[in-house]
Amino acid sequence: AKKIMEGKRGLIMGVANDKSIAWGIAKACAEHGAELGLTYMGDAFKKRVEPLGAELGVTQLIDCDVSDPDSIDAAFAQIEREWGKLDFLVHAIGFSDKNELRGRYVDTSPENFRMTMDVSVYSFTAVAQRAEKLMTDGGSMLTLTYYGAEQVMPHYNVMGVAKAALEASVKYLAEDLGKDNIRVNAISAGPIKTLAASGIGDFRYIMKWNELNSPLRRNVTQDEVGKSAVYLLSDLGSGVTGENLHVDAGYHIVGMKAVDAPDI
Ligand code: NAD
Repeated sequence: AKKIMEGKRGLIMGVANDKSIAWGIAKACAEHGAELGLTYMGDAFKKRVEPLGAELGVTQLIDCDVSDPDSIDAAFAQIEREWGKLDFLVHAIGFSDKNELRGRYVDTSPENFRMTMDVSVYSFTAVAQRAEKLMTDGGSMLTLTYYGAEQVMPHYNVMGVAKAALEASVKYLAEDLGKDNIRVNAISAGPIKTLAASGIGDFRYIMKWNELNSPLRRNVTQDEVGKSAVYLLSDLGSGVTGENLHVDAGYHIVGMKAVDAPDI
């Protein structure tokens, strides 16, 4: 039988190492038959991402810093030159000064607020602008968000505000691009130990809290995010756009965990 993503070409942005959520998504897409391009940020990551790309037979490996518009243009120019068109895009990129991912949100500096919004929010719209032109047969775009956009989580601070804006962008992009059969969705992943996550204060405790309080009583893996991404990126998700799919062991639906209540 034909694999679900066979004949599809996708660009996955945000692999830093084999713990990255983007890597979980890349593996799942390759397993289901997709041809992949990967972008990484700077030479420091190239030596890690190159061998990973080789494992999946990646055909485009591109250095791209989303804070630099020329760098984004160059990346999409390469995709246009080499592939001519694009079927799907994954944006798994976020960044903030880790000194502000602890303590109080109210103390956020204007410089870090702007930088966080630029790299973690605007970059998705910036790549969507370029990808739209290459998705001539329709397509699917996906970004990664976190529950800290919806409810206050400790230490998430300016990143929570950024993710709220990112989730709103998903809806506006979905409406703009829907006419061209381009779908735009987000996955709200539960906490996963990655390079970016290690910058967040008390991250180990946040993971433990999620493990103890989610309906599935465990955390999720990057491979589980990958499987759900295949659904949204492939024709399995053809009727779904503007959605925020929680891949979080159900944590987001819990108001209060059931326990044996004491007599009061
Ligand atoms: P990661 O560190 O593996 O990935 C973050 C990526 O962002 C890296 O590849 C990094 O190079 C890239 N990046 C940062 N600044 C960039 C720039 N200017 N240009 C290009 N790339 C840049 O960590 P991750 O946890 O896999 O993060 C991926 C996405 O998932 C992020 O948006 C993150 O907020 C989100 N997310 C993570 C978790 C979690 O618990 N790990 C939960 C929910 C959502």
